[in-house]
Amino acid sequence: MAAGRTLDGMSDDVAIRVRGLRKAYGDNVAVADLDLDVHRGEVFALLGPNGAGKTTTVEILEGYRHRDAGEVRVLDADPARPTPDWRGRVGIVLQGTGEFDDLTVAEVVHHFAGFYPGADDPDKVIERVGLAAKAQARTHTLSGGQKRRLDVALGIIGRPELLFLDEPTTGFDPEARREFWELIRDLSAAGTTIVLTTHYLDEAEALADRAGVIAGGRLVEVAAPNLLGNRQEALATVSWRTPDGTLESAESASPTALVTELAARFGGEVPGLTVTRPTLEDIYLKMIGHR
Ligand code: ATP
Repeated sequence: MAAGRTLDGMSDDVAIRVRGLRKAYGDNVAVADLDLDVHRGEVFALLGPNGAGKTTTVEILEGYRHRDAGEVRVLDADPARPTPDWRGRVGIVLQGTGEFDDLTVAEVVHHFAGFYPGADDPDKVIERVGLAAKAQARTHTLSGGQKRRLDVALGIIGRPELLFLDEPTTGFDPEARREFWELIRDLSAAGTTIVLTTHYLDEAEALADRAGVIAGGRLVEVAAPNLLGNRQEALATVSWRTPDGTLESAESASPTALVTELAARFGGEVPGLTVTRPTLEDIYLKMIGHR
């Protein structure tokens, strides 16, 4: 679909546009000259090590932190001057809240629904996040993963156009993570734009249309997760065992030719043969300068 242009020059398929964003805490530059575009309807993952500047960036986009410099538009507004209407269009799931004294899950979700004119049906939302069996449980009795689900329920109860999720699956067991990923895919299929921060590379790979890697307050790269760091063009490592049992390996841009040559050399089966390419984790660690 061709993107139209709004009066201020912002393409109407852009949910978030950031240019030259900067934020320092004293001498500590947390975000330095960061540019970023997030398209409407996409799932965008922000990856980066501890202290990279993800939360600072996301909280500026959410309107909860002030920037020092740069241009920021989120759903056609400047988050530094949030209006109640704009707040209603943006859903936020922060890192770990999920506890509301003696209130039950149903009470909390119904209560939050009252804040939004176009709120979703609270009981349906409870069901959707997998908390139906816990609807009458008091929130302080929920497990860590169940509290995160409640956070998500509160983030989506207002039917946001744009949803921010800060490390949403930390503390989830593998099954809960898979269920949560399904929920994100459903929300995305329904047209919600999603920005999530995560430390889990498989989560970015499973969910994100594009991922941005942030390190030292700078965006190092933005690409589809399977294309980050030119991963698909990375050399393959071919390993095998020589007749005396020594492990040999070689890097190759044409591993098939090398394996064919090895097969001819060994007259068939190549002992201990493996062919590997760098994983997303290998690429990511290289990008963030891990030694
Ligand atoms: P994590 O993955 O650990 O959540 P992050 O990528 O979200 O990290 P930020 O929380 O944005 O990183 O922190 C970026 C830098 O800014 C860090 O050096 C941090 O110490 C600093 N910082 C963040 N918030 C504040 C604050 N309120 N006051 C002072 N310094 C801060």
